[in-house]
Amino acid sequence: MILFRRASDLSQWLDLHRKESGPVGFVPTMGALHEGHLQLVRESRNAGGITVCSIFVNPTQFNDPGDFEKYPVTLEDDIRLLEQAGCHLLYHPDPADIYPGGLPRDETYELGYLETILEGAFRPGHYQGVCMVVKRLLEAVRPDRLYLGQKDYQQCLVIERLVQLMGRDQQVQVFRVPTVREPGGLAMSSRNRRLNPEQLEQAKAIWKSLSYIRENLQPGPVSELVSQAAANLEAAGFRVDYVSLRKADLQELDEWDGQEPLVALAAAFLGEVRLIDNILIK
Ligand code: AMP
Repeated sequence: MILFRRASDLSQWLDLHRKESGPVGFVPTMGALHEGHLQLVRESRNAGGITVCSIFVNPTQFNDPGDFEKYPVTLEDDIRLLEQAGCHLLYHPDPADIYPGGLPRDETYELGYLETILEGAFRPGHYQGVCMVVKRLLEAVRPDRLYLGQKDYQQCLVIERLVQLMGRDQQVQVFRVPTVREPGGLAMSSRNRRLNPEQLEQAKAIWKSLSYIRENLQPGPVSELVSQAAANLEAAGFRVDYVSLRKADLQELDEWDGQEPLVALAAAFLGEVRLIDNILIK
């Protein structure tokens, strides 16, 4: 694996090798890698061509400075894991390489309702920050395929929107990779490293409350079921930001017709750590 610290060097390398090496698959991450991230890398790797991963803890997407400061950094392990997973190139920049003029102030993306619901509502500015960094990463890598985790369901929709907004400059096919979970159902997340063993046990409740919705959903009004799932999560010791059942495009839903594909989503704090998860209901 070749490590690049500068976007210009990475782009130059890719320009030289793109023709003979085939299509480029890209996996953007914030590091502290786990099996979920590695699954994205493997999917890209299995599709052939070149696989590029980025590790950058992006300051512009943290609405809570404490969360940014405490974000786990495990670079040496990450490099080893990426090499084992067969990643070809790693881009690990300093903030100054991504944001040479300092952190952007007046840059905004037209994200519509995606910005005002769920994560957008609870983390103001978060998706603008995500777009700022992903746009720059896409410009540096110019991938043919982009691998995103369904674990961050709303982020997938936001980045698909960003790709649309970038228009012809960015012709990339987006793949949503199913969430990789611990044996008890907890979605793998870099933030799980901040949980103690007791909390790791408790954290299974987030998956259980979403499964409760999936198992008990009937055609008709959905609000009581969703409130019960939120109450279950509170009872398990979480401070709940939201539990929500939505259409696949994240539009609201009052009644289910028994047919429409849905997604159940939750965000909740366990102690200081905020966890999110979702499951698809087909
Ligand atoms: P992050 O480093 O948390 O920004 O995540 C980088 C990418 O990995 C994003 O596309 C995430 O959705 C994806 N990802 C994170 N956790 C998981 C997981 N448990 N399963 C699958 N993909 C994941």
